[in-house]
This record gives sequence, C-alpha cells and structure tokens, in this order.
Amino acid sequence: MERTLSIIKPDGVQKNIIGEVIKRFESNGIKIAAMKMIQLTKTQAQGFYAVHKERPFFDSLTDFMTSGPIVVMVLEGDDVIAKNRKLMGATNFKEAEEGTIRKDYATDIEKNVVHGSDAPETAAFEIGYFFNDLEIQAR
Ligand code: GDP
Repeated sequence: MERTLSIIKPDGVQKNIIGEVIKRFESNGIKIAAMKMIQLTKTQAQGFYAVHKERPFFDSLTDFMTSGPIVVMVLEGDDVIAKNRKLMGATNFKEAEEGTIRKDYATDIEKNVVHGSDAPETAAFEIGYFFNDLEIQAR
C-alpha cells in the first residue's frame, strides 16, 4: 500500500472534469483517502513547487497554479505513485500516450490538468504540505 498526492489543476477545475478525473482513479482501483478544494496563494504555490524555483517557467507556473481553485487529493493503493503517473500521461500532452488524462484534456505543457507526486519522498512532502494525519482516511 502506497500513497501519493494528486492535484486537479485550475484548468481541470475550470473545464468541469473533476468527476472525470476521479472516475479514472476509482475505475483503476485507486482509492481516495483525502480530498479538498482550495485556492493557493502565490507564496503557497512557490513553496509547493520549490524544487522548480530555478526553472524559467517557475513564475508562470506558480501564477497559473494560483489562478483558480484546485482539488487536492491523497490517493491510496498498490504502486499508486506509478499507477497515477501512468494515468496522467507525460508532462507534455503532445508526448502523452493515448487514453491518458493529459492526452485527452491538456492544452498546453503548463496547463496540463493534473499533478502527481513522482517518488515516495516527494509524495510524503506533498501530502504533508496539504493534509495532516487526521484528514487522511486509511482505505
Ligand atoms: P510533472 O511531474 O509531469 O508535473 O512535470 P514537472 O515536475 O517536470 O513540471 C511541473 C509542472 O511544471 C508541469 O506539470 C507543468 O505544469 C509545468 N511545466 C513543466 N515543464 C514546463 C515548461 O517547459 N514550460 C512551462 N510553461 N511549464 C512547464
């Protein structure tokens, strides 16, 4: 059993595909252990994406991530970090496999609908960034 952090980014919420994204998780055996809708401040977005602070797109990315509400979720299941990344598809939707969330809904390398932790260490940091233990239900 593993946990990962998933975010439906502002473009995904705007496109009204919260249910579609959650359906893909649930129909692939992934359980939702925590969920909430929030809107990040610039400082909170910068903290979340701190690993990218030297990247040229950091300012644009953190502006985008504060541009509207997001849905943050803790996903739980066997091998869920990799499973979620597979369902999401490649960062650049043009390179994403058919049938992935980003292939089907992303419009831009930045506005790519979903975030998912990429390793156990980042998952632990990212889950802790948004949720305390009491807010996560073991499924
Ligand atoms: P991810 O793990 O697939 O989300 O990709 P990364 O960790 O490499 O990048 C984090 C996020 O930054 C991506 O999901 C995109 O929203 C954004 N991003 C990545 N590469 C670029 C880029 O070249 N330009 C812009 N504008 N945004 C990018």
